[in-house]
Amino acid sequence: MKVIIIGAGFAGLDLARKLNNKEGINVLLIDKLTYHQFQPLLYQVATSALEPSSISFPVRKVFQKSRNIRIRISEVKAILPEKNEVKTDTGTYPYDVLVVATGATTNYFGNDKIASKALPMKSTLEAVKLKNRLINNFEDALDVKDPDERRKYLSVVIAGAGPTGVELAGAISEMRKNMLPKDYPEIDFRLMDIYLLDGLERPLFNMSAESGADAVKYLDQLGIIQKMKAIVKDYDGNNVLLDDGNIIPTKTLIWAAGVKGNVPAGIEPGLVIKGRIKVDRFNKVQGMRNIYAIGDIAAMETPLYAKGHPQLASVAKSQGKHLAENLLRLNRGEPAKEYEFNNRGTMATIARGKGVVDLEKPKMHLNGVLAWISWMVLHASLMYGGKNRIIVFINWLYKLFSFDQTLRLAERHYNLVSDAALEEIKNKDCPQPEAKAEAEAKTKAGI
Ligand SMILES: Cc1cc2nc3c(=O)[nH]c(=O)nc-3n(C[C@H](O)[C@H](O)[C@H](O)COP(=O)(O)OP(=O)(O)OC[C@H]3O[C@@H](n4cnc5c(N)ncnc54)[C@H](O)[C@@H]3O)c2cc1C
Repeated sequence: MKVIIIGAGFAGLDLARKLNNKEGINVLLIDKLTYHQFQPLLYQVATSALEPSSISFPVRKVFQKSRNIRIRISEVKAILPEKNEVKTDTGTYPYDVLVVATGATTNYFGNDKIASKALPMKSTLEAVKLKNRLINNFEDALDVKDPDERRKYLSVVIAGAGPTGVELAGAISEMRKNMLPKDYPEIDFRLMDIYLLDGLERPLFNMSAESGADAVKYLDQLGIIQKMKAIVKDYDGNNVLLDDGNIIPTKTLIWAAGVKGNVPAGIEPGLVIKGRIKVDRFNKVQGMRNIYAIGDIAAMETPLYAKGHPQLASVAKSQGKHLAENLLRLNRGEPAKEYEFNNRGTMATIARGKGVVDLEKPKMHLNGVLAWISWMVLHASLMYGGKNRIIVFINWLYKLFSFDQTLRLAERHYNLVSDAALEEIKNKDCPQPEAKAEAEAKTKAGI
């Protein structure tokens, strides 16, 4: 059986690991990245608490000793179901069984203007870009004398109060409290506002009411401005326009407000529901003989999850393992078994000592330090690579005792401004960043 897996995320990697060295099965694992990224800790990369490498694991290293798994680092351009082939930017590959495990990407709900100006955080590279932007904004703020203008550089607006938004808001508020006033003694950080926005009634809407209430309390304690039932209508890079007409001035809008599946070309639009591919209880794409979808990209309706499973690492991992067992069963001529998610619970962390956990069996809600520690232990255990776990743990310990996020490595945008343009900035009366933007534009245009 020639199996192609597209995507070495949580779902694809666990599927490939379960098929590793199994007789009668040859696997080609395709991913556009050379590494598996641990998305739950991206916000810690964005806020200088972890190095990108500590949450990334080289895909090839997982299968160094494998006899039946081959890897291609390529972007899949299309699936050709009629030919049983996958077309990538490096070649076309045949399959007997195809598994789509391409995960999800940021959803701007069709607003291209917001997409062009806001910062997403779905990949390690995007988390690094976000860190760059935050650090560069603080550096630029030093040159801005007008307090209103300075507030715009310092303030951060996060759209989406799910776990990602809540975790980011908490981590940025810890930076504001512990690290930034020491790094930038010339800046009054009372000018730095952190907004958390959501169209729903409360943060962590997918968790219990108790978790939501705890999150509201913790976010208040951290001085985060929460605006619920607020929808971002527009953003021009300087001002966030809300649907109630209010405007929040900021240079940084972080978009954590929605995701949609990375549906490869070749999957019929009729098979896609809310950005996910419709699958049956065996993860088989509806109407297809030999194409499966697992993880975030898969929409499976079950009696327990009528609207599909939540897009979580635990679902992706368990679907990957379950499909591997089913493919092995089919290869032996045995019938496949239906999938259902065994939900043990959901959790989120807001800041040091401030976490929330909803356990399923027994039904129980935890908060505070206990929930925060449980979150750390679980997330460290989900990561690939012993070295990564040790590095993450050391960084957490260091931060615990030092209250510092030390990894403030950022690329500064000097090269965008020519010497002549810099000279011009010095002679201008208007706020320097504006002059700098003008100079950058002139430099780019070769003036
Ligand atoms: C910021 C953030 C925080 C999160 N926190 C949590 C958390 O705390 N707990 C939790 O359970 N879940 C969390 N999640 C969700 C969790 O990360 C996802 O549910 C999980 O990653 C889904 O796994 P997957 O294998 O379906 O997709 P992914 O892990 O996204 O993997 C998809 C893979 O497919 C590859 N790919 C995509 N398109 C192509 C293509 N065309 N060609 C080749 N390769 C391609 C990608 O490079 C990627 O490696 C979080 C997600 C984010 C973004």
